[in-house]
Amino acid sequence: MIYLDNSATTQVRQEVIDAMLPYMSRSWGNPSSIHALGRDSKEALVAARSKVAALLNCDDDEIYFSSCGTLSNNCALLGRARFAEANDRGRHLITTRIEHPSVAGPCQYLENLGWKVTYLPVNREGFVSLKDVEKHTTSETSIISTMWANNEIGTVQDIPGIANFAKERNIFFHTDAVQVAGKIAIDLKAVPISSLALSGHKFHAPKGVGILYVRKLQNIMPIIFGGGQEMGLVPGTEGLSNIVAIGRAAELAQAELAQNREKLLSMSKIFKQHLSQVDGLIFTGASLLTQRLPGHISFILPGLEGESIVMRADLKGLCVSSGSACHQGIIEPSSVLKALGLSNEQAKGSIRISASSFNTMDECTKAAELLVTILNTLKRSVNSEAPTAIA
Ligand code: PLP
Repeated sequence: MIYLDNSATTQVRQEVIDAMLPYMSRSWGNPSSIHALGRDSKEALVAARSKVAALLNCDDDEIYFSSCGTLSNNCALLGRARFAEANDRGRHLITTRIEHPSVAGPCQYLENLGWKVTYLPVNREGFVSLKDVEKHTTSETSIISTMWANNEIGTVQDIPGIANFAKERNIFFHTDAVQVAGKIAIDLKAVPISSLALSGHKFHAPKGVGILYVRKLQNIMPIIFGGGQEMGLVPGTEGLSNIVAIGRAAELAQAELAQNREKLLSMSKIFKQHLSQVDGLIFTGASLLTQRLPGHISFILPGLEGESIVMRADLKGLCVSSGSACHQGIIEPSSVLKALGLSNEQAKGSIRISASSFNTMDECTKAAELLVTILNTLKRSVNSEAPTAIA
């Protein structure tokens, strides 16, 4: 099997499994307990926080552990909205039309509560323009939220540009960086982001653990209530083995970032080179590889359905995705692709390939060749069926 669906989830690294296992079998105390077993767990919790902070170049006490990227996005956006309401700040939020549902959902919820939400358009390559952010900012704007990189089309936004603008205007700026960890450097000392979300399972930690970063003095209020863990922002007994795992994954991601990025970029080139041979194929998202998530290529082939391509590939042992895995089960064409200006018909034929450091160059060449064969075969069969369909 060749797995090229790493934007959906990644394989847990053996080093990460090795680090987390003792926290299930040997040292399974509650970090809040004051006895030896609890203290062991507390120590591991503190160490993991430090490792994540090192990956993001921020202070340890700006890192909060959560259960997933979805929870981190919700805590940041709704938590800051609560703070804005409690402090008589404006009730206007600016976001984009291509956000993941874990950002779009809280935005819609706030709209239902009476907030004004501006959903900025993106251009054909999926970029939001800083000029648009500026144009729509008013004295009432208290939150801006734009994703760092898009899961479906791989486009990487100008996050430093938007973050600096928000800082100048004293506006809280959140970014969903779930797709970015381990692929693009995140330097929170250099880029004035107010809050940021990450998810462990996108960079080789297990599912069930996420990160919420909140810059010091950038207040957010809790949206869930409990025993006060994670400074009261994400309460609930800490999932210690998963937290140890994300700490180790962060450490590896930091150590291997430059090398991983180069490798993934070379893989993108292989995919692009092979797929360019397919007549009628249109790449989606940013056209420059340096403005895309490394290792991520997405495209549409008008006339074909993404699902059929995925199923054919699956039969040959190749795992890729049509649109976003998070949207699977929903037949609607992806709203991200529609935001690019594609028709419903075009948006149906979308495919995403996403590599990780587990993949080899050989695998990528094999996968790309296989996809080219599948696409050409499907195209021929659709073309030969066409007269019958019309009749
Ligand atoms: N944001 C983006 C861009 C994603 O791709 C995903 C998951 O696919 C999420 C948020 C949600 O992360 P999680 O699966 O950890 O809830």
